[in-house]
Amino acid sequence: MPIALPVRHSTLRVHVGKIPVGGGAPVVVQSMTNTDTADIPATIQQVAQLARAGSEMVRITVNTSEAAAAVPHIRDGLARVGLDVPLVGDFHFNGHRLLQEHPACAEALAKFRINPGNVGAGKRRDDQFGFLIETACRLDKPVRIGVNWGSLDQELLARLMDANAASHAPQAADAVMREALITSALESAAKAVEIGLPEDRIILSCKVSGVQDLIAVYRNLAARTRHPLHLGLTEAGMGTKGVVASSVGIGVLLQEGIGDTIRISLTPEPGGDRTREVVVAQELLQTMGLRSFTPLVTACPGCGRTTSTYFQELADRIQSFLRNSMPEWRERYPGVENLNVAVMGCVVNGPGESKLADIGISLPGSGERPVAPVYIDGERAQTLKGDQIAEEFQALVIDYVEKRYGKSG
Ligand code: SF4
Repeated sequence: MPIALPVRHSTLRVHVGKIPVGGGAPVVVQSMTNTDTADIPATIQQVAQLARAGSEMVRITVNTSEAAAAVPHIRDGLARVGLDVPLVGDFHFNGHRLLQEHPACAEALAKFRINPGNVGAGKRRDDQFGFLIETACRLDKPVRIGVNWGSLDQELLARLMDANAASHAPQAADAVMREALITSALESAAKAVEIGLPEDRIILSCKVSGVQDLIAVYRNLAARTRHPLHLGLTEAGMGTKGVVASSVGIGVLLQEGIGDTIRISLTPEPGGDRTREVVVAQELLQTMGLRSFTPLVTACPGCGRTTSTYFQELADRIQSFLRNSMPEWRERYPGVENLNVAVMGCVVNGPGESKLADIGISLPGSGERPVAPVYIDGERAQTLKGDQIAEEFQALVIDYVEKRYGKSG
């Protein structure tokens, strides 16, 4: 019997452009550019790369008048290359003024991200937040109220700290900080609804940089709201640490049904590929069985029984080939994202794992006959040998995809 997947907690569904978020919709992959938004060609290029890699929404910084003026041109440039990925505007401090001075920017965006900790203080905060929400109401745009540990509303925090100090059983300061994050998101959402924004136009997030804080904050937040939630660690870090921290924190919450959109906030290596955050997000969702994006390759880790790195190279070659083929295959071969391919290093687990895959190859291990049996749909179909095994196996994969997922299949 298949294992039941966790049911999403949010009951409200928000539409960001054509993308449904929450209310049981599939978990959405997001990313964010790191170009200067005012640099129109560079931003178009990076948004296009992220969208082609599979980002279903892309957030861009809107921090200056030049950036706001660039947004409609970025939208048009993407449309010219056939991309309608929703653009999310990230506003801080001066968002109210930018939206007022650049109505075309407001129109071109599919969603506004507002950080309630960065929209001014006191009466000014209320006015500026009010203007952002009224603009969203008038243009029928959804809003993400995105609270961040590093820019928490200081007046709210002071209020909660005072109340905590006066209580009979005061909590630790970090617990009050977590409560302040959640309260900021919930109170801001309630204020937005009071101003007139429909409930089903609001997504919430409370980003922190520690895994245990993330899990604690979102469990609490999810228990107190019906709004869809955007998940992500802020400042996850570089390389493996960023991938592991994000995957663990987000993975635990997704498994509990918490989270409707995700972003893996990796700090790219110098000159590194920004699309890595999209690939990691997709692989997180796919390995958890929540969504399918690209055929997966099951490969053994290799050990002393493998004669060379040949099988690692083959596994890598096949995974890259499948990923690179997806932009074309997605249209041409519906369902191909569920394909399972196995590349194994010897006869110990090779035949068994290959039989479980849709198509699998078991390469010869140390001391084994130099032949590579190929299994298709659980049956031994062919035996490859010689120095063209990689090319021949790739051809068999293409043939399998065409027969199974092609229009004639
Ligand atoms: S399948 Fe063979 S080569 Fe791969 S890890 Fe297992 S024993 Fe080692």
